[in-house]
Amino acid sequence: MKIVVESFTMDHTKVTAPFVRKCGNITTPKGDTIAKFDLRFTQPNAEAMPTGAIHALEHLLAGYLREELSDIIDISPMGCRTGFYLIKLGDLSEEEVGLALIKALKKVINSDEIPAVNPIQCGNYRDMSLFGAKEYAKEVVAKLENKYIK
Ligand SMILES: [Zn+2]
Repeated sequence: MKIVVESFTMDHTKVTAPFVRKCGNITTPKGDTIAKFDLRFTQPNAEAMPTGAIHALEHLLAGYLREELSDIIDISPMGCRTGFYLIKLGDLSEEEVGLALIKALKKVINSDEIPAVNPIQCGNYRDMSLFGAKEYAKEVVAKLENKYIK
């Protein structure tokens, strides 16, 4: 492959999860900035989230993170199941995204249902774990608070 994929340039053995990482910005022809972030929840090649947990987090963060950050284009799970990609219009620092993620995950912890869990709104609605989503949310919030809230 001749194209350099930014995600493949990060050494996954030299990071400590959880963390927020800015992957880069794109400027559109009209001058808008599009920013991409990794929201890494678990340590690469050491722990991956089960699909039910990451899928429930995907549904929950789709709403909760948009309540905290404006102009989110997409937040979607990584295929390796260690976190999420966040793509948004407009630039922010890693810390600003980290603080927003903490607030969104606290809402996950207090949730008693997952949105859009039905065959009309989801492609695999039976594979969901609210319990798992909350457990990972608690773990990530505790560690991100140590990092971003002193
Ligand atoms: Zn779904």
